[in-house]
Amino acid sequence: MVRFNRRGFLRTSLIAASGAVLTGPLHARGNGDPSAPPPATAVKHTRTLGRTGLVLPVVSMGVMRSDNPGLVRAALEKGLLHLDTAHGYQKGMNETMLGKFLADVPRDSFVISTKVPAESGDSAAAIRAWLGRVELSLQRLKMDHVDILYLHAAGSKDETLAPAMLDALLQAKENGYTRFLGVSTHKNEPDVIDAAVECGVYDVVLTAVNFKQDHYPSVKAAIGRAAKAGVGIVGMKTMAGGFFDREKTKPINCRAALKFVLQDPNVTTTIPGITSFDQLDENASVNHDLAMTDEEQDALAAGRLEGGLYCQGCEHCVAGCPRNLAIPDYMRAFMYAYGYRDLAMAQTVLKEHGGANDPCHGCDSCSASCVKGFPVRERIADIRRVGSIPEEFFS
Ligand code: SF4
Ligand code: SF4
Repeated sequence: MVRFNRRGFLRTSLIAASGAVLTGPLHARGNGDPSAPPPATAVKHTRTLGRTGLVLPVVSMGVMRSDNPGLVRAALEKGLLHLDTAHGYQKGMNETMLGKFLADVPRDSFVISTKVPAESGDSAAAIRAWLGRVELSLQRLKMDHVDILYLHAAGSKDETLAPAMLDALLQAKENGYTRFLGVSTHKNEPDVIDAAVECGVYDVVLTAVNFKQDHYPSVKAAIGRAAKAGVGIVGMKTMAGGFFDREKTKPINCRAALKFVLQDPNVTTTIPGITSFDQLDENASVNHDLAMTDEEQDALAAGRLEGGLYCQGCEHCVAGCPRNLAIPDYMRAFMYAYGYRDLAMAQTVLKEHGGANDPCHGCDSCSASCVKGFPVRERIADIRRVGSIPEEFFS
């Protein structure tokens, strides 16, 4: 491994990775700075993120579940210069870890995005509360701005276009808290993508997209419309839960899953969650080799036949539930717990929907049927227990 001082490590390592000599600081160029130096050349495949002009490697780092600054350092060494985090990841400790580590790294040598969940209501108080969370994120990150600030996890057109949140986003940009605005989505992706394009506020959409989506054709079509309108697309949930089973005996072929998503040139980059050096090597290799092998094709074809942990977010089940429960979110929490072993994230999602409460209590029989055959009631009963784990276990 290349050794370096904190300020110089990026340039040194990227030269080592690419064999190229870089003459300036490593930049992802934004459209506000046309004179900026060229982007990193350490990876073979880079794409431009819509009208932002940011040039990113096709595989970036989802920092979400990593608490290891050494892993972030290694990711940057390999040219994964785009780091994705969120206000709620690891109960805020993910941003704090990044802030400590990045404090001495040249600010123009990486691109960072964070996400802040919506505040309810259309009031000035909701806007203030949301901006307050953004300020807390910046404090943790020890930065005066991020590159992309997302409204986190919009699940519908209405949530994407909530007037108070649009005002809050625009205010954040005016305050200089971010260079670009985005929205992230785990369900009803085509609706959210189209709404983002329509309203003109969002520069970027971070969308769930993967080989397990039954509705992939409609997600892909919406991505195409966004790209045509200049809205950049970042792909997430590319691994569809990481495993096909809760016992973790059937891992998903990560390289194949990434290549599948990146076969669409309108997807600029992906943010797989990386928690180990082996995973980093595996995912980073796709930055140099996008060609799908026959073996990888076969792995995806076989994987499509598995039930798996990935909820489609289709909401078919919700119509059958007399309590209108947010079943896709419970299923997502289930995937975080069993697929990713991320109990903190599972709890964060649960707390948005009643915490450890038993939402099915007193319901005689489950009439919420899942298109993938998930035992909905059983999974809700199982995952809700995570809601009662005391916070201090996560700190
Ligand atoms: S048991 Fe099924 S139908 Fe009843 S509340 Fe729970 S999810 Fe809804
Ligand atoms: S639980 Fe099943 S039916 Fe409900 S949103 Fe997920 S995949 Fe669709």
